[in-house]
Amino acid sequence: MSRKHFDVIVLGVGSMGAAACYYLAQRGKRVLGLEQFDIPHDLGSHAGQSRIIRKAYFEHPGYVPLLEKSYANWKQIEQAAGTTLYHRTGLLYAGLPESPLVTGTRRSAAQYQIELECITGQQKKRFPQFEFPPEFEVLFEPDAGFITPERAISAFAYLALQRGATLLTRCKAGRWDVGGDAVEVQTDRSHFTSDALVIAAGAWTAQLLPALGIQLTVTRQVATWFRPRVWNQFLMGAMPCWLIAPPELPGVFYGFPMLPPQHFGGPPGLKAAYHYPGPAADPDRVNRTHTPEEEKQVADAIDRFLPNGRDYTLAAKTCLYTNTPDENFVIDFLPDTQKRVVVAAGFSGHGFKFAAGLGEVLADMAVNQSTAETIAFLSLRRFG
Ligand SMILES: Cc1cc2nc3c(=O)[nH]c(=O)nc-3n(C[C@H](O)[C@H](O)[C@H](O)COP(=O)(O)OP(=O)(O)OC[C@H]3O[C@@H](n4cnc5c(N)ncnc54)[C@H](O)[C@@H]3O)c2cc1C
Repeated sequence: MSRKHFDVIVLGVGSMGAAACYYLAQRGKRVLGLEQFDIPHDLGSHAGQSRIIRKAYFEHPGYVPLLEKSYANWKQIEQAAGTTLYHRTGLLYAGLPESPLVTGTRRSAAQYQIELECITGQQKKRFPQFEFPPEFEVLFEPDAGFITPERAISAFAYLALQRGATLLTRCKAGRWDVGGDAVEVQTDRSHFTSDALVIAAGAWTAQLLPALGIQLTVTRQVATWFRPRVWNQFLMGAMPCWLIAPPELPGVFYGFPMLPPQHFGGPPGLKAAYHYPGPAADPDRVNRTHTPEEEKQVADAIDRFLPNGRDYTLAAKTCLYTNTPDENFVIDFLPDTQKRVVVAAGFSGHGFKFAAGLGEVLADMAVNQSTAETIAFLSLRRFG
């Protein structure tokens, strides 16, 4: 590869970086993506077969316009790649009426007229896999489902390459500098310059941006696949994705219908996990063996809320969250870089569904130094 200067360098070709590479290449920009491992890989935040996508966002209603954009963009990527990445299964929410899960979901749905059904009495028979205490409120969002992350990243990378992007794998970026009218990035192979730099380094962000000024905490998370006790009840097509907030614990348990690995990759079985920051981890030295306590926590939730969902464990996989102090993302220009350096980080365990929308936002920021989307609530300034 002879070229050394690019319009935009994207540091990290994972979830957000691969999407940004695609949107930049689609505009005819000369883009270089740098990835320390393969595209995709299972050492960061994007492995594990499936990621929930939903619109009635309980975390913050400000995400809903970005979700509308992401839904539209996922459709467009599917058409460009000739494949299916979004699978509409619907999503069941369950928790106490005053829980952040239920109040936040209702609030976003009301504010943005998102279809949300309240499941009461006899209607619960529609979901024979689940058993909830009578005091739980149960909601159903029909236009929710899951995205296949490894396939989505592969599609972004393929489409970016097809449109002329250069993607270097097993190429680790180190030091970067803004000087004069260019950004310079040093890698373990060579150095490159560009007009703009997008840093989408996931769990490695703090290593590259030690002076970011906010605490990014990397945590180790485990997803588990179970052999269900009653096979047919839990098949894709027979049940929705789900999010359940037990009153005595922070965070939520969540899961998917059973996805046939011959079509979706990944281990066979019914996948479930606990969405709450786990133990802190160094991304270069992650213990990838799950503990009996981690397995028991999810197994207990399945036994309680999906009583036929677990006979025994088939697989457990470790993945990384990068948490901000308020668990909202950081999408912003880095200070003192003349808007030449954009950071996309701190996805706090709920970012994947946005990759199609944020990829385009990042391309806008790198090329135009602005975005039409309302993302002030994701700025670095909010931390003071
Ligand atoms: C178990 C689990 C379940 C999840 N479930 C959901 C869900 O249901 N729905 C949802 O929306 N989200 C979910 N998420 C969150 C979502 O997957 C993440 O928010 C998203 O993948 C983060 O994307 P990223 O681009 O920041 O990180 P990554 O996809 O990890 O990409 C960062 C990339 O940068 C590369 N990199 C880092 N440093 C360098 C360097 N110096 N040089 C070159 N390359 C570098 C890395 O190797 C990596 O490929 C889940 C996450 C986990 C772990």
